[in-house]
Amino acid sequence: MQILIATSNVHKLKEITALLPAKMQTGEPFEYISLTDILRLSLPPETGTTLEQNAIAKACYAARLAGMWALSDDTGLEVDFLQGRPGVHTARYAGEHADAAANNQKLLQELTKALPPQRTARFRTVACLADPLGNTTCFEGILEGSITSQYRGEHGFGYDPIFVVKTTGQTLAEMTTAEKNQISHRAHAFKQAADYLYRLKK
Ligand code: IMP
Repeated sequence: MQILIATSNVHKLKEITALLPAKMQTGEPFEYISLTDILRLSLPPETGTTLEQNAIAKACYAARLAGMWALSDDTGLEVDFLQGRPGVHTARYAGEHADAAANNQKLLQELTKALPPQRTARFRTVACLADPLGNTTCFEGILEGSITSQYRGEHGFGYDPIFVVKTTGQTLAEMTTAEKNQISHRAHAFKQAADYLYRLKK
């Protein structure tokens, strides 16, 4: 069974395919294809007001276009001191074409007056599975933590160097991909999507 991964972010694609099962319970393989690989297309702009709306839009777009099952995700970082911002605007926090360095810097600047106990935050991922007709099912994963005041670690991407995991005290960038995949928001959401695929194909 082929599943189209509706992302054009290579870091996310690497994480996602590592999280998903290689085989069904019958032994038949799952094959994961990226949207940019087969269609050389990028996804439509994210205009939803919730992570769920964006995840559904991406999965439906890819599934209908390719006529196959598609899996998408949308992730937001919710910082309590900022009343849940950047949330759905996490990717473009420092502006339309902002990179990770600019986003991280803006966030750290906004938190200069926040004391350590006030820096709590969480990553929230909504994964969405769409069938070729565009019927969708969503799954949510959450990782609790806080925002550091200094960058730590070399791994990962995005906000990883400034996000401290509540249960370990490490930033996500201080963890290997394998360690991050044990506990991450995306892992929780995709594990549920994988279980759903297994049940479907039993
Ligand atoms: P997306 O909408 O899922 O592509 O992600 C939104 C934003 O959150 C992007 O700026 C990503 O860099 C960031 N992001 C998503 N997942 C992670 C993560 O696991 N670690 C750090 N940043 C992330």
